[in-house]
Amino acid sequence: MKPELEQELQHCRSLPTPPAIALEILELGKRADVDAGDLARVIQRDPALTMRVLRVANSPLYARQRQSETISQAIMVLGLNVTMTLALSFSLARLLQQRDGQPADWMWRRALVAGTAARSLGERCSCGDLEELFLGALLQDIGILALHAQFPDTYGLLLADAKGHDELLAMEWRELGCDHGTVGGWLMRQWGLPAHLSETAEASHAVGFDDQPTPRRLYLQCVAMAGRIADLLIDRQRLSDTESLFLTAEDWFGLDHAAMQTLLENLATDLEQISRVFDAQLLNERHYEQVMAHARELQLLRNLQLVQEVSEYRRRSQELEQTSRRWREEATRDELTGLHNRRFFNDCLASEFDIASRTGRPLVLAFIDLDHFKQVNDEHGHSLGDEILRQIGRILRSSTRDNDATIRYGGEEFVVLLPATNLLQACAIIDRLRTGIGELAVESPVHGKPVRVTASIGLAVHMDGHYRSERPADLIETADRALYRAKRDGRDRVEIAQDEDY
Ligand code: GH3
Ligand code: MG
Ligand code: MG
Repeated sequence: MKPELEQELQHCRSLPTPPAIALEILELGKRADVDAGDLARVIQRDPALTMRVLRVANSPLYARQRQSETISQAIMVLGLNVTMTLALSFSLARLLQQRDGQPADWMWRRALVAGTAARSLGERCSCGDLEELFLGALLQDIGILALHAQFPDTYGLLLADAKGHDELLAMEWRELGCDHGTVGGWLMRQWGLPAHLSETAEASHAVGFDDQPTPRRLYLQCVAMAGRIADLLIDRQRLSDTESLFLTAEDWFGLDHAAMQTLLENLATDLEQISRVFDAQLLNERHYEQVMAHARELQLLRNLQLVQEVSEYRRRSQELEQTSRRWREEATRDELTGLHNRRFFNDCLASEFDIASRTGRPLVLAFIDLDHFKQVNDEHGHSLGDEILRQIGRILRSSTRDNDATIRYGGEEFVVLLPATNLLQACAIIDRLRTGIGELAVESPVHGKPVRVTASIGLAVHMDGHYRSERPADLIETADRALYRAKRDGRDRVEIAQDEDY
């Protein structure tokens, strides 16, 4: 706070001063040997205070079974410290109430609503001493009273213009170089209130999310949030700021929209009790209904947003699923021919072999090797060789069924796997395939004439008659042995594995 401002405030004659009874209670609080009798005697000297303490002690806010007829009973039921803090709060609250007209009328309502809201928040978030919260929140903006006392006209204008607490803070910084939190802290120190109360007023405006998560931070967050809730409920804040208030509640306390709505509903019930204690109407019912309707609307919008987010999420995960399926698929394909590769073949053979063994339906494996392919490459170039391999891939695909597997096993070696096919059926299919390969003609880049290739093929079967293999790898070897014979016996032929090949 600027020294000039402090000087002015120090000499201000209309500065509020705490009631004598509040000072007496404060003195009691400092004594180590204070007992229930001392406190009861001080409170009882003030009939209005006595009545309020009894009313609140007997209200559902304290939910005690026993009704208290006297202050001594109330102290027994509530405990010494709680009663002392309540009495201090109520005597200081009167300070806010006594002033006539604006701004004191809403200040008083705001302070009580903030105090009650801080209690609700504290209860919801298990934040220490609820009475200390009530007191801290009740007094957090008492600096407004001091500033209004010193500058009734100019500060009165600020108060009238500012829509909401944060806007008021901004105006104060611009006009005074400090805010009412600093002034409130200063005032409470002048009065000799406990340091934690003046520090609360000073710190409640600056509490953020970055500070260490200590019990003190939680206390300050409850106080600061209670002030904003009070502004909303007594119409000192734009309805449109509700969303930011709810977001802060989520950041600070982990309370979502629904939890905040419930908190506001319970707060309205608590406020009815506090209204009775002080014989004052704290909430305007119509405005409260507007606030709650707006909160419900916000939740509806938020739910809609969530639904949209979920469907967007689903769409993206479907996209990802498709992409990864494509990648998986690509990883099992041979780039040149588009046929499946060896990796796919290993898995596929294992599972087809297993099915055949269990069901007894025969499985045929054809091992295909192009004849003299090295020579083709040597005479017509590697790219012609590639083109032939591509064309052969196409022939393999087109002359087999969807359930058959067509594989590029190695360079110019292919495998066709025919599930649920017996040897006789396979011979017809595979010989047609061999003929197809023989009919293929690709123009040579060397002399422009068509180049032809032939293939040698070995066939083996599992689970047809007495033909069976022990392991999948045995079936490959058996077919390979038949293929070797096809090569040996002149190439361009299909050779069926014989008993000795198994
Ligand atoms: P055989 O009738 O005994 O099978 O003779 P071959 O020449 O076909 O057999 P060999 O195993 O000696 O040679 C295979 C040839 O296949 C060697 C290589 O030039 C060719 N080859 C393997 N992979 C490819 C490929 O991806 N592209 C091309 N253009 N040629 C390939
Ligand atoms: Mg070969
Ligand atoms: Mg070959």
